[in-house]
Amino acid sequence: MKKLTALLLALCMVFALAACGEDAETAESAAPSEEPAESAAPSEEPAENEEPAAESGFTTVEEGKLIMSTNAAFPPYETTDDSGAVIGIDPEIAALIAEKLGLELVIDDVDFDSALLAVQQGKADMVMAGVTVNEDRLAVMDFTASYATGVQVVIVPEDSDIADMDGLEGKLIGCQRGTTGYIYASDTPENGGYGDENVIAYDNGITAVEALKNGQVDAVIIDNGPAKEFVEANPGLKILETPWVEEEYAIGLSKADSADALNEAISNALQELIDDGTVQSVLDKYITAE
Ligand code: GLN
Repeated sequence: MKKLTALLLALCMVFALAACGEDAETAESAAPSEEPAESAAPSEEPAENEEPAAESGFTTVEEGKLIMSTNAAFPPYETTDDSGAVIGIDPEIAALIAEKLGLELVIDDVDFDSALLAVQQGKADMVMAGVTVNEDRLAVMDFTASYATGVQVVIVPEDSDIADMDGLEGKLIGCQRGTTGYIYASDTPENGGYGDENVIAYDNGITAVEALKNGQVDAVIIDNGPAKEFVEANPGLKILETPWVEEEYAIGLSKADSADALNEAISNALQELIDDGTVQSVLDKYITAE
């Protein structure tokens, strides 16, 4: 649904921009009869349009660079290879965006909550970390259209007596700090959560899964993408069949006015990659069908 809304929004923006351009032209030429009020003052719009129209009219945190903050403990979206380089869906898409914008991609690997803050504090141009769009984040960040979906799932030991979401009541749940999984799980039971006192926040998904293996928590709630990878890498664990909350991932951007032109360029570049099927092929490369 959100995806559709975002798409429609993006389309509206494209048409609005196209319409602007046209207005300016037709106003000078033939029949401006339909919108007399607006075309009466055509001089304002072209003037405003001049700057964003210049392709490189954006500024980045560091000149010539596109700084992406992330938390590289969230495979297949981001993880590190043996050499310590950050690899995965997000860095691949980011590299393609940077290329379109003529910028050098720089990846800043920090804790998840710091990755979100980096953009808000003007230390990064964008955050890509399988970031779910939600209302709280929309209040402090801008977002591109969604490029992937995620579902919150539950990981338990294979011999666990927890069989569904109800079975989590009174159990100890591990989550990754600052994530939507943590936010939902630690909410009050009236709001569909399990209570703050029953949820332990770990630095990242990998340490949460370690805690599960060591018996320090009874279950881990995390996004399905990394959950699948963690279970494959750790025999003795399984994912419950009951998917919980469905989410949309998007690129988080600065809300500062000075970032408007860059945000638009990033959003447009991502939209092109979605429209021509590139994003889907990157997703398919990393996520094997069920
Ligand atoms: N999608 C979740 C969120 O945005 C988790 C992201 C992550 O852990 N990297 O909160």
